Amino acid sequence: MTAAVVKSRIQCAVDFDREGRQAAYLRAPLSRNTSGWGAVEIPIIVLKNGKGPTILFTGGVHGDEYEGPIAISKLARCLDPAQIQGRVILMPAVNMPAVLADVRLSPVDGRDINRCFPGNPRGTFSEMLAHFMDSVLLPHVDVSVDLHTAGHSMEAALSTNMHYVEDAAIRERTMAMAAAFGAPYNAVFWGVDEGATFTSSVERQGKISVGTELGGWGRVNIEGVRVGERGLTNVLKACGVMEGKPDTAQRDGSPATRHMMVKDPGNFLFARHSATYEPMNLAGEVVHAGELAGRLHFIEDIDRDPVEVRYATSGVLWMAPGPGRVQRGDCIGVVMQDYDPVAAAS
Ligand code: CA
Repeated sequence: MTAAVVKSRIQCAVDFDREGRQAAYLRAPLSRNTSGWGAVEIPIIVLKNGKGPTILFTGGVHGDEYEGPIAISKLARCLDPAQIQGRVILMPAVNMPAVLADVRLSPVDGRDINRCFPGNPRGTFSEMLAHFMDSVLLPHVDVSVDLHTAGHSMEAALSTNMHYVEDAAIRERTMAMAAAFGAPYNAVFWGVDEGATFTSSVERQGKISVGTELGGWGRVNIEGVRVGERGLTNVLKACGVMEGKPDTAQRDGSPATRHMMVKDPGNFLFARHSATYEPMNLAGEVVHAGELAGRLHFIEDIDRDPVEVRYATSGVLWMAPGPGRVQRGDCIGVVMQDYDPVAAAS
């Protein structure tokens, strides 16, 4: 007995099968004191030209991550259907209420939409939106590129990321797609809080999912925008949707993305006290096991010595901490190592 399919409550004005360019708004109902029949309008741009794969670009899943919305909306304004073969769906600001409020979580229901998948059409606003993405949008999609940054909570070394997908063929294709995007690093990881993420939804449908971390710390990373914009057209080229070869040359002279992995649980540093944190390294720096990562300062207590935090693993710092004040249990750093297929499979 299968559960009855419940239709999305979100109105979608685009026809995914129509040729040419359509730019419209999803209308996601949001009943308020001042507008019982009101809606949140979420931009969606669809370009189609004949047969070919469908590529989805999403940004603003978290509202305080700016590089994706900038890169995707720029592409959405200038991409011409005549330049493509196939279909491109662009959503520069998925979580519009959070984007407008400049916060990670939805100000409507307090939820992280990236922990609401596969969603619920009768649930909260974020659950309703997640359900639309999962049940209406994703069935059309072959490759999903979801542009994130580390928001206010961290600063990321500019990177794509992907799960270590069990299916070897899909894993290889995902790695190739991440390499085509052409960020300085691609972090293969095993997830922190998975199953309810958008990435997990894409993977459950057997499609290719690439994420990014293009900055953080609550500001626009200029190089992150550059890498993001190039990455979008690189992916279209790699999929044959646009003509040409991906440009993956790096600032340091290397010709391509460096594949990394985040498998060892010791790669994650957590604050053991609520304190003011003094970090020692920037994202992208080489760090060594045993080396000082930072100090937790108890400014409110004159005679109390700071508590040292030391790296448990060696590698490159993928995520550097963001806010100076940290709470016990907060993640204050993530280290990554060079990708090793044998170690990854073990
Ligand atoms: Ca994010």
